[in-house]
Amino acid sequence: MIKYDYLIVGSGLFGATFAYRANQAGKKCLVIDKRPHLGGNVYCERIADINVHKYGAHIFHTSNKQVWDFVNSLVEFNRYTNCPVANYKGKLYNLPFNMNTFYQMWGVQTPDAALAKIEEQRRNVLNDLQGREPANLEEQALSLVGRDIYEKLIKGYTEKQWGRKCTELPAFIIKRLPIRLVFDNNYFNDKYQGVPIGGYNKLIEALLCGSEVKTDLDFFDKTSPYNSGNWRDVANRLVYTGPIDEFYDYVYGKLEYRTVRFETELLNEANHQGNAVVNYTEGSVPFTRVIEHKHFEMFGPEVYENPRTVISREYSEEYRDGMEPYYPINNERNNSIAEKYRSRSMSECDIVFGGRLAEYKYYDMAPVIEKVLNLDV
Ligand SMILES: Cc1cc2nc3c(=O)[nH]c(=O)nc-3n(C[C@H](O)[C@H](O)[C@H](O)COP(=O)(O)OP(=O)(O)OC[C@H]3O[C@@H](n4cnc5c(N)ncnc54)[C@H](O)[C@@H]3O)c2cc1C
Repeated sequence: MIKYDYLIVGSGLFGATFAYRANQAGKKCLVIDKRPHLGGNVYCERIADINVHKYGAHIFHTSNKQVWDFVNSLVEFNRYTNCPVANYKGKLYNLPFNMNTFYQMWGVQTPDAALAKIEEQRRNVLNDLQGREPANLEEQALSLVGRDIYEKLIKGYTEKQWGRKCTELPAFIIKRLPIRLVFDNNYFNDKYQGVPIGGYNKLIEALLCGSEVKTDLDFFDKTSPYNSGNWRDVANRLVYTGPIDEFYDYVYGKLEYRTVRFETELLNEANHQGNAVVNYTEGSVPFTRVIEHKHFEMFGPEVYENPRTVISREYSEEYRDGMEPYYPINNERNNSIAEKYRSRSMSECDIVFGGRLAEYKYYDMAPVIEKVLNLDV
């Protein structure tokens, strides 16, 4: 059997970027993934000529020029700018909170009038608090933006996301709620953003070019020739991007996650909601968002060149075995368990642990790439 320099477990952005760098350094890599496809969570499934973000909407954004230049050297990015819209009881509001939102909420037309309205609302809440610190997320949000914005745009959405009442969630989850006194619907403050032209699979293909890849291969499957028990027979070093608790057979306990269930539908209409992302902020609507995938890559009249469209309704759910682990729940219990796994992983001199699952940390795409660009390979 060939001896590889690296066996890389996981073909998501961490594993694929590592493979790219190792390849550039003349190292021989084998990348395995237990899923039937490459790319991890950025994988796109092609439905009716539309790239469908199978594991949730992904928008690349960064202010790091090195990362932006790196990804653009592999695939060109389009001009997609994330401008989500919120639907509350059938009325639409622009996000993030900006002059458009305040006009829609109160009819105010100037920054001074908007600020006065927000301050008036905040004052009422601060009076009720009588000088004490906000004790939960509801009080925190109310004290930052007042009742109208909280009740229409934050409360229901946050409760669906976390599966708990805002009064039962800790205040620290919301540290700041930035308010923009300009008419600017661009969700991100980063200098660069977009989506790869032709979809994320193109980026992954470019990153994995030169590496050997195998899908449908679980690192913990004892019948595989590249499993956790015998990997040192086939490679000098291991890059592990799967769940860290699974790597150590859950000896310190299982880490908890929130997950998202997607209900994806192909529709016989060209343009369903006119925007890639619409948040449903009302508590009684069971889904949190509806994503219309074509808007990530088709703009203006191009939208009508394809008579069909694909939408995904997103339901935020409690994670159970067999589901995709998406968002780490960074409470005291999980943080302390994760710390034990992390300390143990530090003693492994021939294994690199990286990415959102192996580090038990929410990472956007750009920071994952930045991290790998700064590693020694
Ligand atoms: C719903 C959602 C939306 C997001 N939206 C954005 C966004 O808009 N913008 C942004 O910048 N970031 C976004 N992210 C974050 C982004 O998905 C991550 O930064 C990125 O996927 C991290 O890459 P990774 O390689 O660490 O993990 P992953 O992409 O999860 O890759 C890990 C891979 O390891 C494989 N694996 C695990 N265990 C094994 C095993 N035992 N054997 C073999 N293979 C295994 C998995 O199958 C998977 O393919 C979003 C994340 C989620 C959950």
